[in-house]
Amino acid sequence: MSVTNLVKTAAFAAVFIATTATLADDQPPLDDATIETARTLRDAALEEDTAYNLLESLTTEVGPRLAGSPQEQVAIDWAVAKFKSLGFDKVYTEPVQVPRWERLSEHARVVSPFAQSLRVTALGKSAATPVGGVTAEIVHYATFEDLQAADTADIEGKIVFISNRMKRHIAGRGYGPAVQARGRGASEAARKGALALVIRSIGTDSHRMPHTGGVNYAADIPRIAAAALSNPDADQLERILKRGKPVTLHLDIQTKDHGMVEMANVIGEITGTTFPDDVVILGSHLDSWDLGTGAIDDGAGVAITMAAADLIKRMAPRPKRTIRVVLFSAEEVGLVGARQYAERHKDNLKHLIIGAESDFGAGPVWALASKVRPDATFVVDKMAQIMGALGVVRADRVAGGGPDVGQLGRMGMPVIDMMQNGNQYFDLHHTADDTFDKVKPEDMRQNVAAWAVFTYMAADWTGIF
Ligand SMILES: [Zn+2]
Repeated sequence: MSVTNLVKTAAFAAVFIATTATLADDQPPLDDATIETARTLRDAALEEDTAYNLLESLTTEVGPRLAGSPQEQVAIDWAVAKFKSLGFDKVYTEPVQVPRWERLSEHARVVSPFAQSLRVTALGKSAATPVGGVTAEIVHYATFEDLQAADTADIEGKIVFISNRMKRHIAGRGYGPAVQARGRGASEAARKGALALVIRSIGTDSHRMPHTGGVNYAADIPRIAAAALSNPDADQLERILKRGKPVTLHLDIQTKDHGMVEMANVIGEITGTTFPDDVVILGSHLDSWDLGTGAIDDGAGVAITMAAADLIKRMAPRPKRTIRVVLFSAEEVGLVGARQYAERHKDNLKHLIIGAESDFGAGPVWALASKVRPDATFVVDKMAQIMGALGVVRADRVAGGGPDVGQLGRMGMPVIDMMQNGNQYFDLHHTADDTFDKVKPEDMRQNVAAWAVFTYMAADWTGIF
């Protein structure tokens, strides 16, 4: 579906939902004052650069912050200090046990028939090759499914290459199918006797920047090294393979597994006036991959959610329920902080009124999706209507809550998706090019404006989502 069609469909859905939603007897109405304040916050957010400045600070003063690394601890200290200096009512951390993995070195080169080096990066949590690397013939599969269907005899003693291409899509729908190769390729190849795995980067750019990202090793299969070639280098390897001669690759990936370390989720709250125990959760993740400075993934989300809560604290009457900004630890290495957060708070679910997550870069919000009770949709419809001035439409899909907040969503917490335009997100995602200069201040303002509307209305309305 084209982007235009998608927007039209969503706009049509907005009309449909707005005219069919009915106000149930047992749900309170939205106060005019709540609506008026939400509009004021929306307009005020467009006049200031708090989020952009927070992102500049995080990416400059902390930089890369790989899960479990000393730099993640620096980020945790940064976040605690920022919440405090912004004047949040409560600032605290909750411990998280995190696996610490470290990238040491990575090299790939075609040995024959056309000797040349290739741009490569180790996938996150990848095992190392033997010291000095491995040299072996390449066996090529177009997709992960082709590898699954392949015979062991074709793979034993070789390096598997999966060349699937990620498709560009506003909501990132190309990611799920393509990322199978990254997540599951190594164990599938190892099961059939491969020495290592290389994949085409899971990304939509044409730069020589390989995209890292987590590997999921199966428990009962030997761990082999797994790496991604940049997209032009994967193209090059495919052209070499098309010549029909055996292709020998040398791959040298050195990494280190440090075991478990203690990190933390960082939490800042604005306390509600009437129902302080009832909480609206704004999520994002504080860790990043190590190659860039984690500006779009997920420094932007950290900055947007902190700034939205800060704006409400400064410019609005206190909402009736508590706003809780949660900066999750170690998302990239397996949703580690979010899973431990959900486990810790699972008995308090009835007080987690609704949640949303910002973890899709720094592009503008274009659609609002929800997973709420039918008799609460009128509140979300009104949020979308107020966000309409920002170019946001009501989306005709069920929200998931994002990777981290979605852990609570699966347990039954209502969720909202503030869907961002992700057309460019996967050009930069998990690469050395994920840096601050790529972020537009006006897009950060637009995000904060939309988030302030959602957050304030969710926290000030007293009904049940
Ligand atoms: Zn992320």
